[in-house]
Amino acid sequence: MLRIYDTRTRQVESIEPARALRMYTCGPTVYRHAHVGNLRSYLLSDLIRRVLERQRVRMVVCQNITDVGHLVDDADSGEDKVRRQAQAEGRSPAELARHYEDAFRADTSALNLRPPEHTPRASETIDLMVELIAKLIEQGHAYTVPDGSVFFDARTFPSYGEISGNRLDALKPAHRINAIDPRKRFHADWALWKPAEGELTWDTPWGRGFPGWHVECSAMSLRFLGERIDIHTGGIDLRFPHHEDERAQSDSAAGHEVVRHWVHGEHLLFDGRKMAKSTGNVVLLSDVADAGLDPLAVRLAFLEHRYRHQMNLTWDTLRAADRTLRRWRARVAEWSESPSAPMAAGYVERTEAAFDDDLDTPTALRVLRELERDESVAPGAKFESFLHLDQVLALELSSEIGKAPAVLPPGAAELLQERDRARQAHDWSAADRLRDELAALGVKVTDTPEGQAWS
Ligand code: AMP
Ligand code: ZN
Repeated sequence: MLRIYDTRTRQVESIEPARALRMYTCGPTVYRHAHVGNLRSYLLSDLIRRVLERQRVRMVVCQNITDVGHLVDDADSGEDKVRRQAQAEGRSPAELARHYEDAFRADTSALNLRPPEHTPRASETIDLMVELIAKLIEQGHAYTVPDGSVFFDARTFPSYGEISGNRLDALKPAHRINAIDPRKRFHADWALWKPAEGELTWDTPWGRGFPGWHVECSAMSLRFLGERIDIHTGGIDLRFPHHEDERAQSDSAAGHEVVRHWVHGEHLLFDGRKMAKSTGNVVLLSDVADAGLDPLAVRLAFLEHRYRHQMNLTWDTLRAADRTLRRWRARVAEWSESPSAPMAAGYVERTEAAFDDDLDTPTALRVLRELERDESVAPGAKFESFLHLDQVLALELSSEIGKAPAVLPPGAAELLQERDRARQAHDWSAADRLRDELAALGVKVTDTPEGQAWS
């Protein structure tokens, strides 16, 4: 069974076997295209789902769509991201949000991220948030102020800070924007409801306005998944304040710990700098396609690193991933021509053990490369093994079957073998001569770190 690093307990924990598991993933704020860094965070949730589903667990996943309430500074001040961008683009917030929601769905589908069972939009679930806020007020965890705001009373939740380590007594006012907001009882309190008029506002018992971003995830997760959630995922930057606030709200309302395991994906860097819109260091999935690369090269490049390590992406790593992808698809097509054989059990077990070991995908890929090279394994067995493991990798490794000229022209296989031996003997002039001979037969040979590949 899967073992995964739990940010709150700060150790690798076993996910207890169960017939069904519930997972919540903090979804996108739909005011712009998701960059590939964002997409890395969503891959984490897809991997957890795929690994557990292979073990016959039924996964129920909820991933919200934030189309209101997420302010520019991620806290209690600044403009609403959707509203501000809608003004800049000269369209209505709803139109803008639907446009980027569709784009997000297209991107996640191109990366083979399985669609969540529930994708509630914030603007369509205001009633759930109002209900939750009313409950928190009634329980004494939240308070209203005369301007129509509602704040969560942080000091009523003493275990605040367990996920990120930012405990209330250590949080200095200066660490929070709005530190000296006179409406708050305590500087670390946060808004559940904000007074406002105009588009994207709703009437409530405490006045007209819109919800805070953090309350959205609590309301949706409690409604769509219930008060016992097995896994909650998001990018590492969401640990604080977003997930601390969410935990305080959900646990206060439920009266117990709602989320069993908090799991966070580390950031993606591009050319050595964090990928972020604010610094202009952004690559979109469409940029990858425009460069002539398969979008799934991004997925493979991500899998080469464990989700909780920072990783640096470059165009070179993307091109290398694209080459590996093409080679594996060609190999799978080639192996599909051989008589079928049972899976290479040892290799498959090692790969699956790596998946289970806190999603150690780099090790899983190393084992696959070993299997690819192992001449003692029948091609039919390699075929079965790669296809089986592709249920988690989701790299569409069978996509070239029936398409590729998987059959080498007569004599080419021998030349390839001879060239392989020449390469191993470092006889480069023979290798070059054999490459020319193969080219004359219409077979193009390329050398890769994993050995020679042909097309
Ligand atoms: P947003 O749409 O800005 O709320 O972000 C969506 C998700 O992407 C969140 O889970 C963030 O933590 C995550 N995220 C943002 N930047 C990066 C990055 N450079 N690498 C990985 N994940 C990121
Ligand atoms: Zn969230």
